[in-house]
Amino acid sequence: MENIKLVSLKNKSKTLIKVGKITVGKDFVIIAGPCSVENEKQTLTIAHAVKKAGANMLRGGAFKPRTSPYKFQGLGLQGLKILKKAKKETGLPVVSEVMDSRDVAWMCEYVDVLQIGARNIQNFSLLKEVGKSRHPVLLKRGMYSTLVEWLNCAEYILNEGNPNVILCERGIRTFETYCRNTLDLSAVPAIKELSHLPIIVDPAHATGKVSLIPSMSLAAVVSGADGLILEVHNQPEKALSDKQQSLTPLVFSKIVDNVFSLKKFMEKIN
Ligand code: PEP
Ligand code: MN
Repeated sequence: MENIKLVSLKNKSKTLIKVGKITVGKDFVIIAGPCSVENEKQTLTIAHAVKKAGANMLRGGAFKPRTSPYKFQGLGLQGLKILKKAKKETGLPVVSEVMDSRDVAWMCEYVDVLQIGARNIQNFSLLKEVGKSRHPVLLKRGMYSTLVEWLNCAEYILNEGNPNVILCERGIRTFETYCRNTLDLSAVPAIKELSHLPIIVDPAHATGKVSLIPSMSLAAVVSGADGLILEVHNQPEKALSDKQQSLTPLVFSKIVDNVFSLKKFMEKIN
């Protein structure tokens, strides 16, 4: 763990990150919302639904890193304005991806947590820029990142003076193709052995399949994760991105109930 000084667990207590009313690292965080902000009605409908079901943060992409340049790229500033409105109506803090270092400073006015996507994890100028802000950062694991490479990315952010990093395991690419990615759940206890940073799990991008998300969400809880990030859509079949992994509000609400029952059970046996 040479060079991973700031992120390493050695002589440090667990990092706690205050976002609105919740403390990531202490309270179990459930971030939910659409993959992409598509329009105001869709986002507000979903925001109210996830809030009612028990989510404590809202997600939604305004800048979308799409494999094809011909696919929906996100609404940009207009999307961020919609997220701000959704926050005002629901009180949920907002998480959204920043793809370009030139957008970091002004995006902080619209979002509570800056997401760095799997495809951008080794964009070092972007990491340095979010490091210069004091804004909380959700740092996804890269598709091909080893744990040490991933922790080095977090080190870039801390090294610029921003200690507020939340890691997110979102699956890695392996020889297996049935699922979109392979969820590496052992990363959760492994990261906890190595680092003081909180870590959450994204079973949606890890599996790419609605049918597998409920069980993997519970497995993430058992692995010791500090939270979950899930994609929810009011009309999943019409979603402009990631429709195969977008939950209906009803299924999402069942997952939330089961997650909290499981948390209670775990507290009892521990
Ligand atoms: C997302 O959260 O919508 C996303 C694009 O995630 P990832 O960067 O993990 O693929
Ligand atoms: Mn997505």
